[in-house]
Amino acid sequence: MSLQRSSLNFEEVRAKYPDFPPLVMLKIDIHRRGLFYADAALAAFNPARHQTGGTHTFGTRDGKLTGRPESIYLRDGTLVLATPSPPEQSPYGIDFAEGKLVITDQGEIVEEAFFWDKPDFYDKRTSNGVLMQNLVSARPQRLFVIPQRFCYFWSDGGGCKFCDIVNNLKQQRAEISMQTKINPADLREAISEALKEKGRYTAICLTGGSDFRGDDAFDKETEYYIEIMQAIGECFSVKKFPSQLICTALKKEQLQRIYDQTGLMSVTMDIEVLDEEQFNFICPGKAKWIGYQEWKRRLYDAVEVFGENRVNTGIVSGTELVAPTRFKSEDEALEIVLKEADDLAAHGVSTVNMIWQPRPNSDFAKAQNGSLEYYVLLAKGLQDIRRKHNLSIDFDDYRRCGNHADSDLARVF
Ligand code: SF4
Repeated sequence: MSLQRSSLNFEEVRAKYPDFPPLVMLKIDIHRRGLFYADAALAAFNPARHQTGGTHTFGTRDGKLTGRPESIYLRDGTLVLATPSPPEQSPYGIDFAEGKLVITDQGEIVEEAFFWDKPDFYDKRTSNGVLMQNLVSARPQRLFVIPQRFCYFWSDGGGCKFCDIVNNLKQQRAEISMQTKINPADLREAISEALKEKGRYTAICLTGGSDFRGDDAFDKETEYYIEIMQAIGECFSVKKFPSQLICTALKKEQLQRIYDQTGLMSVTMDIEVLDEEQFNFICPGKAKWIGYQEWKRRLYDAVEVFGENRVNTGIVSGTELVAPTRFKSEDEALEIVLKEADDLAAHGVSTVNMIWQPRPNSDFAKAQNGSLEYYVLLAKGLQDIRRKHNLSIDFDDYRRCGNHADSDLARVF
């Protein structure tokens, strides 16, 4: 029996939930369906002025890497983080009409859009000759670093089924000379150069693949992040600076080492799927090396190390609906996911939602996404849970990250 899904279109969802911010709803739908750039939009795009895409953890939805805008933002500052999609995914259009950049649906203009401004440091090189935009990217008010682009779960047959990180790395190495691992000295130079653009950046975020190597599992990952964060710390005159590390669920001792020895202020350990059975199916590497219940326990430990309002976890929502899911309907999945998020929040851990964007070089390339109504209720539910437990999401909000529709709501609800 196939899973029951909402069939409401955008206007019907908007009418059903009139209090939900329409621009955040539009963002959700663009993340679901993707976008494509019309020729007129590409003609209006100026790579000398606007930020070009290329350096990502994950690949694009149509498999092409370079030569297009990083993404867009909306007129209230809401960020859209979507990559170009193939036509069968029914993407929104980005076009140039009536003298401005616009978003279209089925040929109709639905909103205005804006390209991101290109960072000043993007075309510069380190003294070792490394292009700085391959070391640090901008989103657009946060500096984003991927120190380690290989995920060792892939070498163990345990890569997450929605993920294409290693296939994307191969493409980036071939097309834009991307390095698998960053030299800390190069990174220090790039961050130092980026910070010369006064007033633009509010935080630094690090993420990358998991590395289970070491005397104790994930010691290698821990030690490398310490080395990288210490290199970044040399750019600051204070010990702690606004920063977020998205890493594997490390042990409390490993987290304590990172906290004590670096300027890191917050940590995110993505559980990806808020249901143990679906987690085991979708994230076999995480299940084998750590396990669902232990992942949750380590999140609670992280709150003891980093403090309240400094720890969260991300989910790639929509993947829990992929067959053979145990859920019979979106309603049932929503109830379980929010119940788990509430349990995490009761222990001081926020949950943020990445809307799943199926990529061609992942196991789930052809699977069906969740409905707009599902994602709207999930975003509202996660923000309601934060309010209920009095949790702040400042370090991962619309300005710092911009990927999560639920944390966009923190400035509204
Ligand atoms: S842990 Fe999973 S989602 Fe993260 S990089 Fe590895 S395979 Fe991809």
